[in-house]
Amino acid sequence: MPSRKDIVDALILIAIVLTSVAFIIVAVDRERGPHDDFADRSAAWLESELSVGILDRGFELGERQTMRSCMGSEAVAAQFDDGCDGIAYRKRILFSDTIWRQLPRLEAGKADADARRAAFLILHEQLHRDDTSGGPIEEAATDAIAYDLLPDWSEAVIGRRLERPARVHYERHVLLLRLASEEATGADRDDPAAVSWRRELWGSGDERRREMLGSFAEDLDALAP
Ligand SMILES: [Zn+2]
Repeated sequence: MPSRKDIVDALILIAIVLTSVAFIIVAVDRERGPHDDFADRSAAWLESELSVGILDRGFELGERQTMRSCMGSEAVAAQFDDGCDGIAYRKRILFSDTIWRQLPRLEAGKADADARRAAFLILHEQLHRDDTSGGPIEEAATDAIAYDLLPDWSEAVIGRRLERPARVHYERHVLLLRLASEEATGADRDDPAAVSWRRELWGSGDERRREMLGSFAEDLDALAP
């Protein structure tokens, strides 16, 4: 029979172990990455510019295998030549080694082609919503907004105004969306009315997006996600 003291000792030991485990879990959950301040600054600027809540997600370096296979059931990914350069999850955004290497360069105000491409991708991933069904319409809405915002965003967040990249990954999606915004507003695609229309589309749910897009929704559905 264990004595009363043995039982108390065992309970204390269990309590110590449980506390340590809880500590480790909290520590893992709360650990901030080297570029999370950048993520926070960017999210704050986007929230104030778009008047919509941006998901609070840290930036992390993704494992090569994950990035190569574009894995993740809740991920919406931007895919470049070989695998993914960015995968947005609900609580974090994973970047490939290629993009991760550009983060300190961006924070130092570099503005060459590699830095600009990385900036555009970072902006795109941070703009991804988690309350839509994803697919080509989400990619179009996200990329079109990233395209609109890049110069102002980079000026505010990086301290250097970056030109838009000459080519974007979701080029046809963005083109279709810009056309749709012209058709819906009767304004030129870069006029404030068309820009506002694209912002409204990005901020809307699936159903409203389809209403706004009309026949352009089917054109977008036909594109790869
Ligand atoms: Zn995407």
